[in-house]
Amino acid sequence: MNALAKKLAARIDRDGPLSIEDFMAVCLLDPEHGYYTTRDPFGAPGDFITAPEVSQMFGELIGLWLWSVWQGAGAPENTHLVELGPGRGTLMADALRAIEGATRQNAPFCLHLVEASPTLRQHQRVTLGQRTVTWHDDLDSLPVDGPVLFVANEFFDALPVRQYVATPQGWRERLVTCRDGAFEAMLSPDPSMIGLPQAPTGRVGEDAPVRLSVMAAMAERIAQQGGAALIIDFTDKALPIVDTFQAVRAHQFADRLADPGEADLASAVDFPVLAEAAVKIGVAAHGPVSQGALLTALGIEARCTALKRNASLEQVAALDAALSRLVSPQGMGEDFVALALLPVGQPAPAGFEVLPT
Ligand code: SAH
Repeated sequence: MNALAKKLAARIDRDGPLSIEDFMAVCLLDPEHGYYTTRDPFGAPGDFITAPEVSQMFGELIGLWLWSVWQGAGAPENTHLVELGPGRGTLMADALRAIEGATRQNAPFCLHLVEASPTLRQHQRVTLGQRTVTWHDDLDSLPVDGPVLFVANEFFDALPVRQYVATPQGWRERLVTCRDGAFEAMLSPDPSMIGLPQAPTGRVGEDAPVRLSVMAAMAERIAQQGGAALIIDFTDKALPIVDTFQAVRAHQFADRLADPGEADLASAVDFPVLAEAAVKIGVAAHGPVSQGALLTALGIEARCTALKRNASLEQVAALDAALSRLVSPQGMGEDFVALALLPVGQPAPAGFEVLPT
């Protein structure tokens, strides 16, 4: 058993079985041994690769999207650009460089990063070099004095999920217990009041109240202060009645309950549920649209062609491969989708226009 497994086993001994939500939260962000707390998981030698790490084109187009939304709102002064879960800081660096290249002026935003991992904060500090950045543990400490542009790529999937299993007596929560030094799933002895649709016995349902509360906090800021949000993540059409809780280690799926803190844990994001929560608070939700459709609408092909002009043969091949990975259905083009939030009454942002039928 690793050190985190011992800590979790002691907690289960003391307090009883954990929810999947608590198990996932501890595995990812335990202050001493958590997955994100202790490592940089990205890239070929790591566990997984995210879109900003696939190619600079991703962050560049998102930067131009943010800038155009800000222009569409009348270019308000004192706008805060906030990234949630910025990883290595790559998206933010690419976005700012694209904005500054296109406008030939410093990006007109105050920069904020919401990041729980001290290890990744250090990476972000290096990536963003000379820029003035304020780090936050959560959204509560963000300033209240101006519009807020939020961007979150593969952040919501890392916020913990709860799981339920359908039984003849209704839904029961799936819990994690420890037996003979190994973690295993069990069902709560008590029925749950969760509002999932009915499903055949044995099916798994997912619900992520932590994601809803982050979404509500973002929507409240946009409703009160102005701004926008762009949220990109992987999803699953079968949600909420599907088991999407996954562990990824060295680019392969791994046992979800084994070796806590050593694999990336995530689950698919239920976008309609998030959008509904935001709309209830009084902002407009646009999309979701697929990542492939969004990047194509924002001009990724032209950007790729431009980058290829000064590239070696090897770089040309890498750019083509990156383009395909980001937009094709065999890559991330369809499994990943984007949702935009804007104040009510503002026109749909670039890439989210609904075409007349
Ligand atoms: N957006 C980056 C990284 C995605 S990984 C990219 O696309 O490459 C998830 C990121 O969210 C990591 O930076 C992780 O440390 C951070 N994170 C996860 N849970 C968090 C939480 N509850 N609060 C703040 N940051 C969190």
